Amino acid sequence: MKYIFVTGGVVSSLGKGIISSSLGKLLQARGYRITIQKFDPYINVDPGTLNPYEHGECYVTEDGMETDLDLGHYERFTDIHTTRGNSVTTGRIYSTVIEKERRGDYLGKTVQVVPHITDEIKNCIRREDDPAEYDFIITEIGGTIGDIESMPFLEAIRQMRWEHRGDTCCIHLTYIPYLKAAGELKTKPTQHSVKEMQGLGLQPDILVLRTEKHLDEGIMHKVASFCNVDQDCVVQSEDLPSIYEVPIEMQAQGLDKAVLKKLNMEVGETPDLLLWRNYLAKRDGATKKIEIALVGKYELQDAYKSIRESLQQAAVYNDRKVGVNYINSQFLTKDNVAETLTGMAGVVICPGFGERGTEGKIIAAEYCRTHDIPTFGICFGMQMMVVEFARNVLGYKDAGSAEIDPVTKHNVIDMMEDQKNITKMGGTMRLGAYPCKLVPGSRAAAIYGRTEISERHRHRYEFNNSFREQYRKAGMLCTGLNPKADLVEIVEIPELRWYIACQFHPEYRSTVLHPHPLFLDFIRAAIEYENGKNNE
Ligand code: GLN
Repeated sequence: MKYIFVTGGVVSSLGKGIISSSLGKLLQARGYRITIQKFDPYINVDPGTLNPYEHGECYVTEDGMETDLDLGHYERFTDIHTTRGNSVTTGRIYSTVIEKERRGDYLGKTVQVVPHITDEIKNCIRREDDPAEYDFIITEIGGTIGDIESMPFLEAIRQMRWEHRGDTCCIHLTYIPYLKAAGELKTKPTQHSVKEMQGLGLQPDILVLRTEKHLDEGIMHKVASFCNVDQDCVVQSEDLPSIYEVPIEMQAQGLDKAVLKKLNMEVGETPDLLLWRNYLAKRDGATKKIEIALVGKYELQDAYKSIRESLQQAAVYNDRKVGVNYINSQFLTKDNVAETLTGMAGVVICPGFGERGTEGKIIAAEYCRTHDIPTFGICFGMQMMVVEFARNVLGYKDAGSAEIDPVTKHNVIDMMEDQKNITKMGGTMRLGAYPCKLVPGSRAAAIYGRTEISERHRHRYEFNNSFREQYRKAGMLCTGLNPKADLVEIVEIPELRWYIACQFHPEYRSTVLHPHPLFLDFIRAAIEYENGKNNE
């Protein structure tokens, strides 16, 4: 087993996740078994309780772990399924160590950062609980070199480099700023960052230099010689129009080769990445654009990362570019909804928590339903479409979700039975993959091309089954059900062009090479709708 560590210096947001994913992709293309994991230095046990405003989307794995959005990149690039082990925080490490201490595992010992915390970090890096076998484990360390919080992680890496001599490779990402006034690209911050690592006993093997401007040979040589790195181990990562071009660029510069050489492995032939290149070519070939509205409440782009990516992938496979138009539901009113949605070929009603912005989502749902605009509801989005239907079709003006209105008699969305006694908020929702049976003959079954599916969840509330019959009679059908618990997973209005909503999150399963069928068909329907409008 070989261990690759990815760290970052100078500034945050350098795209360590994209570099890790790209490297994973390149090694996979050479036939290696890989996994990619993220170690985050914050105290939250998992990112589930973090605010999407600050931290972007919370990504959910098959096994129900709420994780950092970088895991979404790992899956979208490599098609691997990540698990709980792929997302580790300082909080989780400490809580395991404290649990062990209370149990008496360290009796007689003073429990310390070194060795107890660092040992636990090493156990997690080696994935000692994971039965799967890997040739490479890529470990991305969140934060920036020099942060107090990441020190134990770096110390654990230092120890591992010593213990697994010859089997580890350390990739450090830094930033080369361009000073406009001087007309120069500056390497000093990189030199300092590497020096800081050296002070911690870590010598990077490979440097990836993030830059907005092309770096010439001279600069690359300078960095190599000042930082004790071989010349063919300095790679530049210029800003590219799309993150999906990064693997191609990294391959062209030999990042994977440099890693293999450092690990004394055979380099062999360079794989052609044909399918990946086909995707990029298809994307570049698409000229017509389709406009999709994303009705949500979080302004931050990253808050709906996986949905945006899924829409983009689906558009490429439909030979279109997609314009994703974020619409803040807090400002949607009956008076402005028509104008706001003008030009939209389809509308996604987004997931969410809490009251803010819910009425706007309901207004959007009503407008789309009554104007027959292709509409895709996801999780909370589905719940709001169900509430809208109850209010305006079933005639229950007070209908709502128990999350927002705990006392309404028409609680068409209600808390799941097994959630009612839960007192802790972290990690207690219905999380991860559950099976779902689709009703034969339904639109959902036609889209999936089968009747048994499995999708990932992250919610506490559900469709209230005591209203199911009334919905059916009025034209909204429950066409996806959990076979054991009979929970409603999909609703649709067959009479409309495309009015489908799901309680699960299909966006977590959409990848570049395997786009999700619901997104594909939603975009197809949106294109059809737009073509129809243009021909009117
Ligand atoms: N707030 C809703 C629930 O808990 C929906 C959650 C979501 O959209 N992910 O059921």
